[in-house]
Amino acid sequence: MSSSPLLNELVEALRVLPGVGAKTAQRMAFHVLERDRAGARRLADKLRDAVERIGNCTRCRTFSEEPVCTICRSASRDAASLCVVETPVDQAALEHATGFRGRYFVLLGRLSPLDGLGPQELGLDLLASRLAEGEVRELIIATNPTVEGEATAQYIGQLARQAGIRATRLAHGVPLGGELEFVDRSTLAHAFGTRQDL
Ligand SMILES: [Zn+2]
Repeated sequence: MSSSPLLNELVEALRVLPGVGAKTAQRMAFHVLERDRAGARRLADKLRDAVERIGNCTRCRTFSEEPVCTICRSASRDAASLCVVETPVDQAALEHATGFRGRYFVLLGRLSPLDGLGPQELGLDLLASRLAEGEVRELIIATNPTVEGEATAQYIGQLARQAGIRATRLAHGVPLGGELEFVDRSTLAHAFGTRQDL
């Protein structure tokens, strides 16, 4: 607790950020007040702008300040490849790592009936009508390799089959640069079972 109620409120507000506990929040608050008030003002402006102006793309559901995002609008993207991911963060990770030139569909979650997340919440009706447009030839399902992510992948695979579209799934395996003795058993078993020709 400090002598300023406003400072206490700032510390409390900073804790909304992931991985920021009471100590870190306090350090951040003191830092901006002591050393970087201009930076803090810019941060406050950007936070307000982002929260007020960034919505979701009406075609792929990723974050966008326009009704249709830049990737969906880009003519240089291959309309035949559509990659399904759980979150905009996963989309950004693939975008940075792979050089994929198709388009995306962002579920904003994964099937999880206990949390009230069903096909409707994941926009799967939007995905189905997208597949029915006839442009997509391969649906790359890049949901996470968790129990719920796999169940989601199975469900979406079904949608693709119904639309007569090829569905593929990211490979699971041994991490590059890793050593077999440190890989968990289920990953190792999966990698062994899906080994490829050399
Ligand atoms: Zn989009």
